[in-house]
Amino acid sequence: MDQASIGEVLISSDDLERRVRELGTEISRDYRDKDLVMVGVLRGAVVFIADLLRSLEVPCEIDFMAVSSYGSSRDSSGVVRILKDLDDPITGRDVLIVEDIVDSGLTLNYLMRNLRARDPSSIEVCSLLTKPERRRVDIPIRYTGFEIPNTFVVGYGLDFAQRYRNLDYVAVLPEDTVPTL
Ligand code: 5GP
Repeated sequence: MDQASIGEVLISSDDLERRVRELGTEISRDYRDKDLVMVGVLRGAVVFIADLLRSLEVPCEIDFMAVSSYGSSRDSSGVVRILKDLDDPITGRDVLIVEDIVDSGLTLNYLMRNLRARDPSSIEVCSLLTKPERRRVDIPIRYTGFEIPNTFVVGYGLDFAQRYRNLDYVAVLPEDTVPTL
């Protein structure tokens, strides 16, 4: 499938830009006197964190983690393997996990437990997208870009079989190409 045949645009480039700027303003206000380290979850959050970072008006550092979830590409099992850990310690620091999308919440639940064990001063979550209908664990998401329905989306960092991350908008993947459950 080529770029042209990707499905309906769910969130336009303009809307993404505007919302990311709003989130940046909100985060800058909340972290004015904090020791902010943003933890991007590879690979999906790369585009979002790059834009969010540039909309911040407070000092911050970034670090990355890569995780893989066992199970099919659509359904996460909650059993998560760390493929790449943080480069630096987070003890005593104010951690903001930056995610592309929270679906069941199982991956994030694992990540939060793992990072909390390292004694950060605070830990919060910023997710570009969330699918509340699919949630299986209740996770407090402090900053949310957009709530979306239960559809499989690509673009702005999100992939299908490693493709479409480069789209500057978020699109719904047509039903006949959606990963099997
Ligand atoms: P969770 O553990 O919350 O069920 O799964 C989160 C991960 O599943 C996300 O980080 C992302 O990699 C993947 N995922 C969930 N929904 C979508 C979607 O609609 N599109 C894409 N491309 N990935 C998704």
